[in-house]
Amino acid sequence: MSARLVLLGPPGAGKGTQAVRLAERLGVPAISTGDIFRSNIKNGTELGRRVQDITASGALVPDELTNELVRDRLAQADAVDGFLLDGYPRNVAQVAALDEMLAAAGQAIDLALELTVDPQVVVERLTKRAEIEGRADDTEDVIRHRLDVYAEQTAPISQVYAARGVLAQVDGLGEVDEVTERLVAALAPVLS
Ligand code: AMP
Repeated sequence: MSARLVLLGPPGAGKGTQAVRLAERLGVPAISTGDIFRSNIKNGTELGRRVQDITASGALVPDELTNELVRDRLAQADAVDGFLLDGYPRNVAQVAALDEMLAAAGQAIDLALELTVDPQVVVERLTKRAEIEGRADDTEDVIRHRLDVYAEQTAPISQVYAARGVLAQVDGLGEVDEVTERLVAALAPVLS
């Protein structure tokens, strides 16, 4: 199985949870740029120090840094036959950067799966997650900023994939298992 996938959707849509579950089913790595940044911050690496304040504010890390990180990650052996990207690409320029990385190897994104959720539900979920996980960027002001950044910079990329005929929108509301099954069903045309 060699599926190259991206998972789209606003902060709080359940991307992280679903990415891990889906990737496990498909036997491809789930690659979350947010997780990579968080683990670098936690471990006090050079990269972590560079992105700490940016991620805590809810702004996007500069494309150059993010694109290089993804390029390195996709070059690792486990991603050669497929991957599921979570949280990347995050703007139209990153879509182009990803296209270039893949085109160099004669590859392309097979499907962009977009989790759709009501904005009100998203805010509730993020507030709850703040209590449970204590993420630095889950405070009310930062949540609002991240949603604005999503609306302005990230939401438009759905149209880019839609125009190529590789966008599948999936209802992100409901039980975790239920949403996973919807995602798996949306993948059927790619996997057959
Ligand atoms: P996430 O866990 O995907 O919500 O990402 C947490 C934070 O990491 C974001 O608010 C950004 O500051 C940063 N980040 C994650 N992915 C990207 C990306 N593709 N481009 C720029 N910044 C990113």
